[in-house]
Amino acid sequence: MTSRLEVFNPATGEKIRSVPEQSAQQVKESIERSHRAFQQWSKTSAKHRASLLKKWFDLIGEHQKELAKIITLENGKPYQEALGEVTYAAGYIEWYAEEAKRVYGRTVPASVTNKRIIVTRQAVGPVAAITPWNFPAAMITRKAAPALAAGCTFIIKPAPDTPLTALELVRLGHVAGIPEDVLQCVIGDGEEIGSIFTNHPFIRKITFTGSTPVGKQLMKNSASTVKHLSMELGGHAPLIVDQDANIDLAVKQTMLSKFRNAGQTCVCANRLIVHESIKDQFADRLNQEVAKLKVGNGLEEGVSVGPIINQKGFQKIVEQINDAVDKGANVLIGAKYDVDDEKSCYFVHPTILTNVDLSMKIMHEETFGPVAPIITFQTLEEAIKLANDTPYGLAAYFFTENYRRGIYLSEQLDYGMVGWNDGGPSTVQAPFGGMKESGIGREGGQEGIEPYLETKYLSIGLDE
Ligand code: NAP
Repeated sequence: MTSRLEVFNPATGEKIRSVPEQSAQQVKESIERSHRAFQQWSKTSAKHRASLLKKWFDLIGEHQKELAKIITLENGKPYQEALGEVTYAAGYIEWYAEEAKRVYGRTVPASVTNKRIIVTRQAVGPVAAITPWNFPAAMITRKAAPALAAGCTFIIKPAPDTPLTALELVRLGHVAGIPEDVLQCVIGDGEEIGSIFTNHPFIRKITFTGSTPVGKQLMKNSASTVKHLSMELGGHAPLIVDQDANIDLAVKQTMLSKFRNAGQTCVCANRLIVHESIKDQFADRLNQEVAKLKVGNGLEEGVSVGPIINQKGFQKIVEQINDAVDKGANVLIGAKYDVDDEKSCYFVHPTILTNVDLSMKIMHEETFGPVAPIITFQTLEEAIKLANDTPYGLAAYFFTENYRRGIYLSEQLDYGMVGWNDGGPSTVQAPFGGMKESGIGREGGQEGIEPYLETKYLSIGLDE
């Protein structure tokens, strides 16, 4: 009998619906279909692929409200945020529909007169993707759109908490005319499907967004078949507020960076590093804004902070808060929880911690929750050292009106994405991704299609 995955609303504990899971054999068959489909799809014209992507983009636009509702139901984020995610997710499809037509090769002057050198690009082959629950739409389109544009076929394994958004996106892709075997979705256990993907010779590329430990495992497992890899992994973003920052702007952007999606984003400001001279002013202003946030079911009017996705995520947040408080942190606001264990509903009220120091777990571990710990600094070198003191290197933010200090900071921070007076730099036109243990490769922008392309060099001899 086919096993089914039950999907629950994290805000109410209600079952939304169940979906069939694929067996190991069915996943292998999907890979075989993907391999066969690649032979045709990779030979289609870029213009043709672009037109299908454009239709997919249009259909998502027509169904944006339904999609946003699905996201809120299974992920919990407030409906307006979910609508924003749909627009953001669709943006990648539109962007790569356009980029599909701009995959260029080049000719290279040879060092001898009787040869010609031509460099071309071609699709890497069937791609397997594994994605997390925190952006159930965007984490898929950011991969699928460039892959399909490049001429790759694509199989997605979404997170078990949020498969419904993935299934709906794929359905709309098929309605748009993308062949079923070119764009597939498989549901089931990550470890099992991950192992099939990494070991199967037909899969030529693994693209993963999720935690760093799982990313490392996938990299190890991919070694035996030497696959192309893209890894979008965890983060531990510092947000520096310098002495000459515009404090109102810094507070506004910190709110955006920290509390969106209940703090469950990889680019969330995880550590607020604030100049000693303005720490009280900044904390007071932030406190005023945090007090306005409303926690609850994302489908209710006015709710700005939804539930934590599951008990495991909730426990980690509570553990970090308790650890900080035990070691001397003050709770300025928050550290309150609404919990219904029977229904598996977990809400964390937005929290600000002051008097934070480096002995606390929250300074070293990704939180994935609405908690803002404030640590202070006196010199810029101290701020930079604090910011870079982590194996992660995804996003960093800083606030200063002083361009000399700003340029210096931007160059010293070991992060793939840096927001200067900007708490939300992520956009389809720009390369998203991290340094160090935050990953390999970039998604978005002109860089985002590169990981789906192989380079081939043709040397033509002209001797008779
Ligand atoms: P996760 O535990 O790594 O899970 C992500 C996906 O991997 C899920 O589909 C999961 O499915 C699958 N998975 C888990 N174990 C696996 C294994 N051994 N082999 C193959 N697949 C496996 O991450 P998460 O907790 O859901 O997501 C949050 C993490 O994602 C955070 O660390 C966050 O920073 C990161 N993230 C990064 C970015 C970025 O762009 N850099 C964006 C968003 C999120 P199963 O549960 O079915 O196994």
